Amino acid sequence: MQTHQFDAVIVGAGGAGLMAALYASEGGANVAVVSKLYPTRSHTGAALGGIGAALGNLEEDKPLWHMYDTVKGGDYLADQDAVKVLAEEAVDSVIELERMGLPFDRTDDGRISQRRFGGHTSNFGEKAVRRACHSADRTGHMILQTLYQQCIKNKVRFFDEYQVVDVIMNQGAVVGTVAIQLGTGEFHLFHAKATMFATGGWGRVWQVTSNAHSLTGDGPAVLFRRGIPMQDMEFYQFHPTGLYGLGLLLTEGIRGEGGILLNRSGERFMERYAPSIKDLASRDVVSRSIYLEIRDGKGIGGQNYVHLDIRPETVNRYLAEAGESCRIDSAYIAKNLAETLDTCRTYLGVDPLTEPMPVAPTAHYAMGGIPTNVDAEVVIDENWTVLPGLYAAGECACVSCHGANRLGTNSLVDLVVFGRRGGKVIANYVKQADFIPLPANPAEQVQAEFNRIRASRGSRRPGELRKEMQHEMMDKIGVFREEDHMRKGIDSVTSLRDRYMNDLHIDDQGSIFNTDMMEAWELGCLLDIAHMTAESAINRKESRGAHSREDFKKRDDTNWMVHTLVSSESGEPYPHGIHPLKINSSKKVNRSLEEGDKRFAPKERVY
Ligand SMILES: Cc1cc2nc3c(=O)[nH]c(=O)nc-3n(C[C@H](O)[C@H](O)[C@H](O)COP(=O)(O)OP(=O)(O)OC[C@H]3O[C@@H](n4cnc5c(N)ncnc54)[C@H](O)[C@@H]3O)c2cc1C
Repeated sequence: MQTHQFDAVIVGAGGAGLMAALYASEGGANVAVVSKLYPTRSHTGAALGGIGAALGNLEEDKPLWHMYDTVKGGDYLADQDAVKVLAEEAVDSVIELERMGLPFDRTDDGRISQRRFGGHTSNFGEKAVRRACHSADRTGHMILQTLYQQCIKNKVRFFDEYQVVDVIMNQGAVVGTVAIQLGTGEFHLFHAKATMFATGGWGRVWQVTSNAHSLTGDGPAVLFRRGIPMQDMEFYQFHPTGLYGLGLLLTEGIRGEGGILLNRSGERFMERYAPSIKDLASRDVVSRSIYLEIRDGKGIGGQNYVHLDIRPETVNRYLAEAGESCRIDSAYIAKNLAETLDTCRTYLGVDPLTEPMPVAPTAHYAMGGIPTNVDAEVVIDENWTVLPGLYAAGECACVSCHGANRLGTNSLVDLVVFGRRGGKVIANYVKQADFIPLPANPAEQVQAEFNRIRASRGSRRPGELRKEMQHEMMDKIGVFREEDHMRKGIDSVTSLRDRYMNDLHIDDQGSIFNTDMMEAWELGCLLDIAHMTAESAINRKESRGAHSREDFKKRDDTNWMVHTLVSSESGEPYPHGIHPLKINSSKKVNRSLEEGDKRFAPKERVY
């Protein structure tokens, strides 16, 4: 088995991983990036609408207002110190991306153009503000390409199509990872002083999702099996506007440019749910509103979707009613929402310039994940104890700057801000740390697990089990939740896990690009994540942000201003049996701003 040694190994080549790799290498570290996908295929490349930063290029804006919106949008569960870092460092991170060559859209006088987005306001909720910096509706694609070029320039070493399947610990620290080279099926060891996980989200737990096929929660699952708790797993965001039937994302930028949601009678129903900010309320609010309309029989033609209308005549009518002077035309939409037009025309044969788009909520973003502090160091308990050698950033991490619900454009900010901080901290750490030796046979257990999977000759193929899990999770642990229903969800996940262990069938016995085997292993990760999500959701007896319970409809700040930590009770990762889970809800939310500035104290969210 080949062993590679680097000061720092970054697992994942999305925006977070590349930003960390860039800064660690700039700080003098010898850095490798290990990625199961070719780097520019990472999901960051699919991000559309924009990256939020209070540049104030088109109207007055301040990081303090961005902070306020983020704390409120997160339903007061976000750690306020992390939010402060996010909003303040967003500004120079965006300018820095521009200097690296990112082709942002421009205002007439040459500055970075900005558009409106859900939940982003000026002056503490007064009115919607233009804060999202964008490159048409391909912002993530541009970020990824720009960062990849910079990493190549900095001589970061890339191991493309290597999938990390285990983490190695020794002497109380993380000392490396085990990966499979997908093209050959060989196992490799990556020995490092610092290891960062930046493996992205896990939308594939649900049936309808905006997430790529590869987003299976590998990073959190691998760490969880080795005893690292996961934080706030109950908070999973459903984006209001997935293309009906497919889940493909239609960016919030459409509503930012004036798009309107309409029910079957042509009513702009968001006026009822969020009278001041209407269609641009935060995502949890809009997703629930759409579901309630559908439940009331007000979906289009009585079906399970509503309309999103960006036709110029509709938008201009509402702009005129609102007393706004600007108007839009087809050319403007074609330029600013090019990807949206393409997606709708290609996948549904619907032309948004002449017809409204059919939309319904789609599983989109994980607020929870690997617990970290603001320096991307992984912490393993409610006392913020740091596990040496381990870092996490991006969607797989939970620094908790998004709390119970993320605002649009804040994920891309999270990647660049905390990826950069992590990279800098790693560069300093590896200067003073020595390599801790690898333990004997570090890949033995995970190799045995792969042998088990490859030799499986039961009756159920991984794809079938995955479909069943996705259906159950969508139905039982989706936008609205209720205890009995969730318990049934856990029973289903448990019995699927049992079949996964005892009745799996793998066709491909080979070693070259054995996707059959890798998808089976990824299904194991998804099942772990589904189980953690369901148990954490049952545990939290209140409604907050994206976690909406029919049996506990109110937010309960007295008892639930805490983060959830879920861990495996057995602490024995292999074989991946059905582990009883242990839940700890004593990690307090850091409310530092609130103490100094009462405007950040929890109150009812009214939009
Ligand atoms: C369609 C869509 C549109 C979006 N639009 C926006 C937007 O406009 N604004 C915004 O702020 N956010 C947006 N988001 C959210 C945002 O894009 C993501 O949260 C963010 O890009 C995640 O970045 P990341 O670096 O954490 O991970 P990703 O970009 O998902 O990358 C994950 C990386 O990890 C690697 N990896 C995973 N598992 C393994 C493993 N086992 N071994 C090795 N490598 C592994 C993959 O190869 C990949 O390189 C959007 C998301 C989607 C799905």
